[in-house]
Amino acid sequence: MKLSLTGIGAEVQDILCGYIKAESITNSPGEREAETYFLNCFRSQPYWQAHPDYLGRQPISGDPHGRAAAFAMVRGGGEDTVVFVHHNDVVTVEDFKLLRPLAFSPEELERELKKLRHTLPPEPRSDLDSGAWIFGRGVCDMKGGGAVQMALLSRYAQLVQEDPDSLPGTLIVLAVPDEENLSAGMCAAVPLLRQLKERYGLRYRLMINSEPHQRRDPARGVFSLGSVGKLMPFVYVRGSLSHAGKVFEGFNPAGVMGEIVRRTELNMDLSDAVGRESSPPPTWLYLRDRKIQYDVSMPLSIAGCLSVLTLHQTPAQILSKIRDICQESFDVVVRRMNDSWHSFQDATGRPRRLLPWHTKVTDFATLYGEAAASHGDSFRQAYEGEIERLAQENGAGRLSLLECSLQLVDFVYDYVDDLSPRVVYGLIPPYYPNVSNLFFPRLSPEIRNLGQTLGDFTRETFDQEYVSEYFFTGISDLSYTSIEDGKAIVNALERSMPLFGRLYHIPVADIEAVSMPCINIGPWGKDFHKLTERVLKEDIYERTPQIIQRAIEVVLGMA
Ligand SMILES: [Zn+2]
Repeated sequence: MKLSLTGIGAEVQDILCGYIKAESITNSPGEREAETYFLNCFRSQPYWQAHPDYLGRQPISGDPHGRAAAFAMVRGGGEDTVVFVHHNDVVTVEDFKLLRPLAFSPEELERELKKLRHTLPPEPRSDLDSGAWIFGRGVCDMKGGGAVQMALLSRYAQLVQEDPDSLPGTLIVLAVPDEENLSAGMCAAVPLLRQLKERYGLRYRLMINSEPHQRRDPARGVFSLGSVGKLMPFVYVRGSLSHAGKVFEGFNPAGVMGEIVRRTELNMDLSDAVGRESSPPPTWLYLRDRKIQYDVSMPLSIAGCLSVLTLHQTPAQILSKIRDICQESFDVVVRRMNDSWHSFQDATGRPRRLLPWHTKVTDFATLYGEAAASHGDSFRQAYEGEIERLAQENGAGRLSLLECSLQLVDFVYDYVDDLSPRVVYGLIPPYYPNVSNLFFPRLSPEIRNLGQTLGDFTRETFDQEYVSEYFFTGISDLSYTSIEDGKAIVNALERSMPLFGRLYHIPVADIEAVSMPCINIGPWGKDFHKLTERVLKEDIYERTPQIIQRAIEVVLGMA
């Protein structure tokens, strides 16, 4: 018996409407509402009444909001399994301004937007007039795709109840929180997948995410066969303090930091290219001095972090590029300072001498090692106490992971004897590994050709072109579907990310245990995270469910 999708649009619409009402702003207690809604959608259905174990939640350990990754499963025959994932958190609604109360009510929002249509840019205005799009926070990113997955799973549950032989495999839908923050939900879902795999003897063939896709050419949809990686290097520049009138007695960290920013911001040498795809170059997300209050001294230290997106580079490779740039920047600034010093000496008739500054760049582990070498166990104990304090501050929402990392550098510095100016670099959470089926070892032909197969399907069925790309550039939970050389990555993170394994966890061993190729099949969407966020009705009600159904059939050998 083949699954019929007749009328599924109304079901998707129904599910989406309720899902949107859960105001699950990322990193907030509201995410629990989305989780409850997800589980309740299945709990009342006869299939899950008969199989209550096929539904459940995996709590995020130590989560202050009590959030969890939720799952629902339908089992047919055979061990082959397709896993679906969607995130059910959404970003904040600040830019809705006075329409904020309507952000989660698509119909009312559309009515109000129409009254303001003259204030909208031309494209959202004409999309609004067309009636072909749903507006609202989360409709596109990504409860629309989530609702498609849920409606499909319910249909398969009914099918399997009528005819257990009609599905030669297992389907699992994961609904995770925190994607727009640190992906703590996905990191809880991976150990859950491992448990399900061991308990039911599953063989994971593919993970399907349904994030919205954007179109450069409106006539062409996009499948992604992987997802970009993201790293957040931090740079902490420690200077040597002096009065603003005695500039040559001190070392202002602003000079070195400025040079490092100039050499990294939008620097394409830090982004990588695979085929005709390239990761966007890095940008600085945070940068400030660490002065407690204004006075006429130079700042003692300045710190910041930049976001680096990767296609195939490893953390170790990025960190070595960052180190080189820091060293070059330091060299240049010391040279420039000496030039200025010499001009000043000439102008004031003093003999020329060199300034005492030398380039010094170290990673976090080296700084830690210096403190431990001079203070031994008393330092190590105090360090553990500081980690504990930071964990509490972070858990209570008073300190970000970035600020915790920087405070830890400040803390270690209290135990370091060499106080000459230097750059300390490392990583702050989160870390998203780059993944792509392109790099996947021993890919079976039906998965390797899946983008092509589905592109043929959409052309024949809807006369709609779809192209495949190897990387979803929007950053997604698919990053945790597989990992290349987990050991080397753990080594690099342990060395450079002070909070790794302490306040921030990635289940590397579990990722390796469940490792599977991935694809993103999602609806066409626009203006994610903005007031005019919208998703194409035709996609979520008709096309995306059919494309996903086709993908299931291909992977489970039903096609
Ligand atoms: Zn998303």
